Amino acid sequence: MPVLVMKFGGTSVATLDRIRRAAKRVGREVANGYDVIVIVSAMAGETNKLVGLVEETSPLFDAREYDAVVSSGENVTAGLMALTLQEMEVPARSWQGWQVPLKTTSVHAAARIEEIATENILGKFAEGMKVAVVAGFQGISPEGRTTTLGRGGSDTTAVAFAAAFGAERCDIYTDVDGVYTTDPRITSKARKLEKIAFEEMLELASLGAKVLQTRSVELAMRYNVRLRVLSSFEDNNENAGTLVCAEEDIVESNVVAGVAYSRDEAKMTLVSVADRPGIAAAIFGPLAEAGVNVDMIVQNIAEEGRTDMTFSCPTDQVKRAEAAMNAAKDRAEINFHDLVADTDVCKVSIVGIGMRSHAGVASQMFSTLRDEGINIKVITTSENKVSVLIDRIYMELAVQALHDAFELERAA
Ligand code: ASP
Ligand code: MG
Repeated sequence: MPVLVMKFGGTSVATLDRIRRAAKRVGREVANGYDVIVIVSAMAGETNKLVGLVEETSPLFDAREYDAVVSSGENVTAGLMALTLQEMEVPARSWQGWQVPLKTTSVHAAARIEEIATENILGKFAEGMKVAVVAGFQGISPEGRTTTLGRGGSDTTAVAFAAAFGAERCDIYTDVDGVYTTDPRITSKARKLEKIAFEEMLELASLGAKVLQTRSVELAMRYNVRLRVLSSFEDNNENAGTLVCAEEDIVESNVVAGVAYSRDEAKMTLVSVADRPGIAAAIFGPLAEAGVNVDMIVQNIAEEGRTDMTFSCPTDQVKRAEAAMNAAKDRAEINFHDLVADTDVCKVSIVGIGMRSHAGVASQMFSTLRDEGINIKVITTSENKVSVLIDRIYMELAVQALHDAFELERAA
């Protein structure tokens, strides 16, 4: 029997009624002839509640016990979903991560999947079971402890199962009806994409479009898993949602697929540091050790052996970055004159694999921002995107202007 993976996010299993609706969708796919692996998240809000309980109990918690507590939300949903399917006379049972087993590294709260055993579940399918309901987000470490895969990790569980079982498709049911050209809350012209390439989705996911965990898209790309993102609140036809797939499967696409943004960025400048070999290592080593996620980096032109170094990081990491830099200064490794933090910036990016073969995309972005009177503070580019740092008050304006300029409301 062909295998289908169906993943239901927290809002899709928030109540017993919604679990029933999700189960009906599963039942329909069973009737269509599939053996189904259902991956479930915790009921909406549950994981946050559990994280809160852990933090209240122990601010510097033992991550192994954090995982023991926080993984439990998915266990509840898996059991309830299996019971619901049984009530509908669909042969189903639940599986916790360790029962599969889904083996991970021992990095608690951020574990990576190493291996998924397929024998147990395939054995049950062979005996006539139709649905394996698997608790998402969790696995078992080599030490035999329960691990979790990081927030949003059920997406990654789903893709990994699809790869391991050679599933025909991995359907991700969520509270939006697909992936959009940009955030529909910022412009009503945002359009749902029928298809998007893995590379584009990866950029959009990591740039803050919260639809899929970034890691899940990486995995889907590596194993060429066809991923479909669709709403669990609508009746979906064959072409519902957005298909995330290989470039080759997309016949026509716009040069720019989407505009992404990330609101809470900070721009930090180390004024006048010595321009000598090793200076970047001396700055970014301590920042990495302090857990600062540095994104953009610009080293300015040097004069008389001194230069300015600018980098960006999330606003809530500014304190940490300052502490790390001041500590490094005390050790006299980097004798900068001043550290200037601008915490009122945001990042806006245009994303699209079409940029590789089209000249002038970046310049069109810059002239669009110029026409709106928006000053660009930092620019970075890669094969599939151009990002700029601008004042946060212009974020919506920039997204709308770029969406218009690249005519994203129109399909290719
Ligand atoms: N329940 C977990 C979370 O909220 C995992 C997931 O839903 O993907 O992060
Ligand atoms: Mg999610």
